[in-house]
Amino acid sequence: MATRAVSAGRGSGIPGDPLNVPIVVASNYIAATSGDGPEYSRDDGTATWIAFEAAIGSLEGGDAVAFSSGMAAISAVLSRFGAGSRVVAPDDVYTGVGTWLADAERRLGWIVTRVPVADTAAWNDASADAELVWLESPSNPLLEVTDLATVIPAAKRAGAFVAVDNTFATPVLQQPLQLGADVVVHSATKYIGGHADLLAGVAITSDATVHADLRRYRKLHGATPGALEMFLALRGLRTLPLRFERAQSNARRLVEHLRAHPRVRTVRYPTMADPDTGGSNGFGAVISFEIDGSADDADVVCGALRLIRHATSLGGVESTIERRAKLAGQTHLPPTLLRLAVGIEDADDLEADLDEALTS
Ligand SMILES: *Cc1c(COP(=O)(O)O)cnc(C)c1O
Repeated sequence: MATRAVSAGRGSGIPGDPLNVPIVVASNYIAATSGDGPEYSRDDGTATWIAFEAAIGSLEGGDAVAFSSGMAAISAVLSRFGAGSRVVAPDDVYTGVGTWLADAERRLGWIVTRVPVADTAAWNDASADAELVWLESPSNPLLEVTDLATVIPAAKRAGAFVAVDNTFATPVLQQPLQLGADVVVHSATKYIGGHADLLAGVAITSDATVHADLRRYRKLHGATPGALEMFLALRGLRTLPLRFERAQSNARRLVEHLRAHPRVRTVRYPTMADPDTGGSNGFGAVISFEIDGSADDADVVCGALRLIRHATSLGGVESTIERRAKLAGQTHLPPTLLRLAVGIEDADDLEADLDEALTS
C-alpha cells in the first residue's frame, strides 16, 4: 500500500520530464488530424486528474473517476437510480447523504430503509429486495462498524448494487471492491487530501459500464475537479498510509487516556474484540466521547483546547474537535458528544491539551 501510494500515477518516465505530473491548467487540446485524442477537459480530464485517478484506483483496486467534491461523487452514484427505487442505508449516515435520500423519497418516491449500522441480520434482511445498498463504516459520529465482509456478499447475492463510502476507513484499512462492492466513493477532502486545503471526491469501480456511466455523469453535470485540487489531492495521497497509521496510533492512545479520565463518560471507538468487525484492519483516527456536564460545558471544552482546533471536518494532519449535536438535524446525538478527529501531532501533547481543557 505504501509503495503504491508513492509510485502509482507517476509521470512519463521520459528523461527530462518532471518526476511528478505537474498542474495542468487546460480546457482544450490541439485536435488530432486522425484518430482519437483528448479534446476538451470536461470530457477527457487533464494529466493532473488522470494521475490522481491512477493512484487512488491502484489503492482501492479499480478504475477511478475524480469529482469536484465527495458529494459530487456520491450524487453520481445515487443518480443511477430512478423513481421508486428501493434503497437501504445506515441509520447513522453522512448528513449530506441523509438529506439526499430524504429528497429522493419526496421527489422520486424512493423507498428508503435505514438499518442500524452494526446489525448484520437487519442488513441482510433489508438488502434482500433492494436495488441499492449504501454502506458507510465506521459510522460518523457514533463509530459503529458494519460487517462489510458479510453484508456486501449477501447484498450482491440478492442482486443489489452495492456502494461503500470509504472516507473514514480509507483503503489503508479496507478495500470494499475486494469484498465485492460495485463502487467505492470518497470525500478526498478528508484523509486523501489530508491537509484541510481542498475539496474533491472520487468514485472507484472495477465495472467498465459503471466507470463509463460515472464519466458520463461528470461530463453532463459538470462535476469536474479543479487542477490545483487534483495536484494537492495526489500530493496528499502520497503520504496517506504514513499519516493514517500515525493518526490511528495517536487515536488508540487517546482512547485509553480518555477512558481513564474522570470527566469523560462514554468513549466510542471500535476495537478488534467487538463482534461484526469483518473486513477491516483497524478503525481509524476518529473518536467520539461524552463529558460530564451540559452542552454548554462541552462547548467550553472545545473553546479551551489550544492545540486541538475547534473546527468541523476531519482527516487533516491537524486534530479537530466538534460538538456534533449543535449541527442542524443532529438532535438524535447525545448533547455533550464531542467528535475528535485525531491528527499526527505528538500524542503526549494531545493528551496534555485534552487534560487542561477538561479541567476548565
Ligand atoms: C465529508 C464527507 C462527505 C462529503 O464530502 P465533501 O468532499 O465534503 O463533499 C461524504 N462522506 C463522508 C463520510 C464525509 O466525511
